[in-house]
This record gives sequence, C-alpha cells and structure tokens, in this order.
Amino acid sequence: MVKTTWIGDVQKGQYNGKEVELMGWIKRERGSNKLRFIVLRDSTGSIQCVGKLDALGEKSFNLLKGILIETSVILKGVVSASEKAPGGHELQISSMEIVGGVNSERPFPINEDSLRVVDENGSPLYGGSEFLLNHRHLYLRVGRQTTMLKLRSSAFGAIHNYFRGQEFIEYQAPNFVAGAVEGGSTLFEVPYFQDEDNPDQKVYLTQSWQLYAEAAMPALERLYTIAPSFRAEQSRTRRHLTEFWHAEMEMAWANNNDIMVHGEGVVRHIAKTMLDECEQELTSIDRDLDLVARYADNPYPRMRYDEAVEILQGKGVKIEWGEDLDHSKESVLTKDFDVPHFLTHYPKIAKPFYHRVDPDDEKYVLCHDLLAPEGYGEIIGGGERTWTEKEILERIDEEGTPRDPYQFYIDVRSYGGVPHGGFGLGVDRVVSWLAGATSIREVIPFPRTSRRFTP
Ligand code: ATP
Ligand code: MN
Repeated sequence: MVKTTWIGDVQKGQYNGKEVELMGWIKRERGSNKLRFIVLRDSTGSIQCVGKLDALGEKSFNLLKGILIETSVILKGVVSASEKAPGGHELQISSMEIVGGVNSERPFPINEDSLRVVDENGSPLYGGSEFLLNHRHLYLRVGRQTTMLKLRSSAFGAIHNYFRGQEFIEYQAPNFVAGAVEGGSTLFEVPYFQDEDNPDQKVYLTQSWQLYAEAAMPALERLYTIAPSFRAEQSRTRRHLTEFWHAEMEMAWANNNDIMVHGEGVVRHIAKTMLDECEQELTSIDRDLDLVARYADNPYPRMRYDEAVEILQGKGVKIEWGEDLDHSKESVLTKDFDVPHFLTHYPKIAKPFYHRVDPDDEKYVLCHDLLAPEGYGEIIGGGERTWTEKEILERIDEEGTPRDPYQFYIDVRSYGGVPHGGFGLGVDRVVSWLAGATSIREVIPFPRTSRRFTP
C-alpha cells in the first residue's frame, strides 16, 4: 500500500476532474438519509467528501452514515473545484474502504467542548488543560497541535541550516554528567552505578551541552548541537519544561559581540524559514504574519543590564541592581519591544563562574540574554567564557564550587586557552513565541513538567 495522493495537493487544484484515492482519517460527518458530508484529513490538510446513496449503493452508504470520528479510510472518487467547500475542492465518493475502525464504546474523546477550555483570565488553554494533557497522544492529531509540530520541524531545520551554512560542525555531548552548568538547584540526580573509589560522586542529567562543547572547541573551533537539556524547574510557568530542546553553539576566537551576531542570525533565520515554509500554518492559527516578518527582517538592538534596570524602576517595578531578571520582570520590559533585544553586561554576582569578567569593569560579566517581545522574555542566554587557567580557578574558588568535577573544564584552559564563547537557545521557547502559542506545552509533543511525565 503506497499513498500517492495528498489532500494538500488536491486543495491546490492539482487533481481537478480526476479520479483519486485518498487515505486518511474522518474528521467530521453529517448529512441526511440520501446525502452525507464527510471531512477527511491527512497530514497535509482536509477536504470535504460527498457520499450519495445513488452513487454508493445501500451497503457502503450505511457504513458511511454515522461513521465515527478518527476512523481511518480509503476513499475513491472524482475531485472537483467547489466554491462552497472549505479549501475550494470537494471529492464525490465512488467507493469507501474502512481500514481501522473506532470502538463505539470509546469514541474519540476530544471534541469542540474539550477544546474550549480557558484559564482564569479567559485565555484558551490549548496547551494546558489537564484533560488535553492526559490525552496528548490523541490531541497531537487535532489541527492546531499538528500545526505546532510542523512549525517545530521548520525551526529545527532552520537551525541546522543556519549553523551548517556558517561552517559549524555538529557535535554531541553526554547526557549523564557529574557537574552543574546552571546552578545546583535545578539538577536532576540519577541513581547511577556507584563508583567504589568515589562513593559520594553524584550523577545528574545534563542542563546544557556547554562544558563539553568547550572541551571540543580547540578541536573544532565552531560547533553546535540540538539536544535535550534537563532542569528540575519547580516554577510552573508557560515557558519552563523539565526536559527541553536546546540549540547551543560554541565558537573559538570570539567575543561577546561575535556571539550575539550568530544569536541574532539564527533567530532571524528561524523566523524567515517559518514564513517561507509555513505561511499557511501560521495563518491557520491566526498568527500575525507581519510580526513574524518583522522579527525576520530587522536588526536586534543591544542594551546594557543597567539600562534595563532603570527602565524597570521607571515603570515602578521593584528591582535592585544585582538581581537577575526573572520572568515577571522580563515580561514587563519586553511588552514595549517591537523586536527582540539583547541585554548585555549583567552583574557578576548574578551569573555563574564560567562567564568572563569584563576587564573594563569587574562588576560585570561579558554575557547576553536575548529577550523576545510581546512580553515573552528570554529565548537565548550566552556570552564570553572565562578562558585563562588563572581566572577560571579564581572564579570557581570564589563561588565556592568544588574543582574536582570541573577538572576537565579547567584543562581546556591549561593547554592553549583562547578567547571563546557561545550561547544556548531554547528551541521550544522560540517556536512557542513565534507561533504565538498559549504555552510552551503546545509546541513539544509530550511536555515534561514538575507534575507531568505521562503519557
Ligand atoms: P530562565 O531564566 O528563563 O529560566 P535560564 O537563564 O535558566 O532561563 P539558560 O540557562 O541561559 O536559561 O538557558 C539557555 C536557554 O535555554 C534559555 O534562554 C531558554 O531559551 C532555554 N531554557 C532554559 N531553561 C528552560 C526550561 N526550563 N524550559 C525551556 N527552555 C528553557
Ligand atoms: Mn532557568
């Protein structure tokens, strides 16, 4: 059985007047005792199909009548253009074969009512209602969620294209690690085999590829990955998962500015690729295409942390110099942004040891976060790395971090260290922001959060 005809192509008018065989799933069914209207869907779209008692004969017609949603079928018939039919085309059914039925005692559980769930502010909870999360495996085939999966695929492709186009080499790091990148509070400990010589050594799931990327930096000079990262995030925001997809890059002979060029480059390339590949999908979920085009076409301004703090204080937000910006503050700050902005030069006390201290003013580190507009907040975190052996030892000791698990990291500096840097981009976050999703949980097939690890 090979499928040759796709509903998306039928809706483009490629088969008008021709007999075709369509394989797909029943999305809707209604009609009278003589005439039934079916909406058939496949991965590329949906189409209205008309079944007439005269044409089908009683046996087939009765099978069609009341056929259950999500039954899989093969329909044969002639395609015609039709102004009344959604999408502009229609199939006159000449024969039908049921491939996989649906148990009438357990009909497809997702319907208009289950999709109409809203939060306390009346916003739709497409990605968040417990019912839809419990039925995630079935929800994936409902229009809006299928669209999110396509947008996601477009973003992954764009990231690979961007980095490979810039001569970066794809490189993989281990997921079982012994040290933290982003601070101990979000580490997931794993019950790993015990090391008899070192029984206290703990093993964790990785929070980032970065430390291992730096080890390969002197070998590859320009490297990137797209891989899962794990963080024991307690916060139940619409932007945090415990398992997320992390696009990271590392680059030798580069400073903070050189790294930001690529952060801007890859995000603009993702926006442009989505517009090129998924205009129809974005429109189908009511996303404003002009906004996405604006993010693709315009440069992203840079602003120092101090300036951001002043703006926030001016808006009456309570923030002290030295605090990291949590999501609520990023959200206020980015409400008025028309494109993403880089925030640079955070206070040293707000950031981990690997961030390079600014030689011009030791209160700051040479780092950046890219904050997305529409109140979305951080999508990239990156910067220059502390790259001399002397400085990395000082920073590690100053932080009170044990040296042992980081010896391999220190060694990168001991043997011909060079200035370098990189960033991490949350792919799910970028897709969620560009798609205008209601939650990050909408754009990952099976979201993992502090309370959710099934199905
Ligand atoms: P936040 O303050 O928003 O939690 P972070 O400062 O912990 O982010 P980084 O450690 O800089 O984030 O990670 C790099 C990027 O990875 C972030 O900019 C974000 O896009 C993404 N990211 C980080 N944590 C998560 C998460 N829990 N779920 C989804 N994406 C995440
Ligand atoms: Mn975080």
